[in-house]
Amino acid sequence: MKFENLNLIAPILKAVDSEGYTMPTPIQEKAIPVILEGKDLVGCAQTGTGKTAAFAIPLLQILYQVQRDDRTGNVKESRTIRALILTPTRELAIQIGDSFAAYGRYTGIKHTVIYGGVSQGPQTNALKAGVDILVSTPGRLLDLINQKYISLNHINILVLDEADRMLDMGFAHDMKKILKQLPATRQTLLFSATMPPEITKLVNTILTKPVKVEVTPVSSTVDTIEQAVYFVDRKDKKSLLIQLLRNSSIDSALVFTRTKHGADKVVKDLAKAKIIAQAIHGNKSQGARQLALNNFKLKRTRVLVATDIAARGIDVHELSHVINFDLPNIPETYVHRIGRTGRAGLGGTAVSFCDSDEKEYLRDIQKLICKKIPVIEDQPFVLSVAGE
Ligand code: AMP
Repeated sequence: MKFENLNLIAPILKAVDSEGYTMPTPIQEKAIPVILEGKDLVGCAQTGTGKTAAFAIPLLQILYQVQRDDRTGNVKESRTIRALILTPTRELAIQIGDSFAAYGRYTGIKHTVIYGGVSQGPQTNALKAGVDILVSTPGRLLDLINQKYISLNHINILVLDEADRMLDMGFAHDMKKILKQLPATRQTLLFSATMPPEITKLVNTILTKPVKVEVTPVSSTVDTIEQAVYFVDRKDKKSLLIQLLRNSSIDSALVFTRTKHGADKVVKDLAKAKIIAQAIHGNKSQGARQLALNNFKLKRTRVLVATDIAARGIDVHELSHVINFDLPNIPETYVHRIGRTGRAGLGGTAVSFCDSDEKEYLRDIQKLICKKIPVIEDQPFVLSVAGE
């Protein structure tokens, strides 16, 4: 299947070509025709599957076709927001905005991105200038609605991105308030990596006869990712990490810790070993987080240390390694984490450190992914009581 077979308009085909994409990913192949037909959709897909383009491309096309003046061939000035994308984190909002900029660059359709933690001036200026598509995190959206900078009265298309994470992050109440302000007649698209009962309930209440599109279910980790586990005492994790990072085959590593404090500590320990790393988590200012992320993306820093929430949806091309300094207690989180590497068919490695307290987490993870993760025995920091 080629993009040309998806009934896409020329300005979008040109943009996709400029991005260097040769073929749609499975979620794009399945979702784009459904969305173009105007149907509601539930997409069960993780980041890394190409899900952003799967909704951004048809959405741009729909708006373009509505707003294009057939007489002049130009797209009319935007006066009202017609599409809203709600997403849990600032980082994701920015990345989705970048995707709209890339795929929409030849359409004349305008978008803007708003999120909290920064001054609202530039955001309200962009809104005043007129946008067709708004990408937003829930809190700042409600804030600007209350200040009357935003009206959701003319939204035709709503996208809930990473819906499971929005609920996990405690946005259920904000989402309810936002949903109340939207026109009842609209197209709704919901994307979620997992489908817990709360999401199914949400789908049943706010979507109309949705088409369900599923790719790489959360339990099947991407096959191209090489996984390994080290059994190691908690106190030795830092030395093991230093030893691994001294290995030059690690081109770029995203290191996960359970807590913000843990992330800062890892950065400090690595600095003592002369390994430069930066941390990204909720306690950092938006500027510091963005800077750390950009440095990592541009390969100025080789190691980024993150907590799960801060790293949610981080999109880094060619990330070679994910290192789980701490194992997550929720097995799905493991799948989210390692999905950061092995993107778009590239290989990647996911390495996990497991201390004696974390063995039960490892058991749950292996159960979920239906796979036994190979244990690296040949290493200097073996657990005092041998692992399973
Ligand atoms: P996402 O799942 O939306 O976070 O996208 C993951 C990555 O895949 C992003 O870096 C996209 O730029 C890239 N991508 C999206 N669609 C395609 C495609 N059809 N071919 C190659 N790469 C793609």
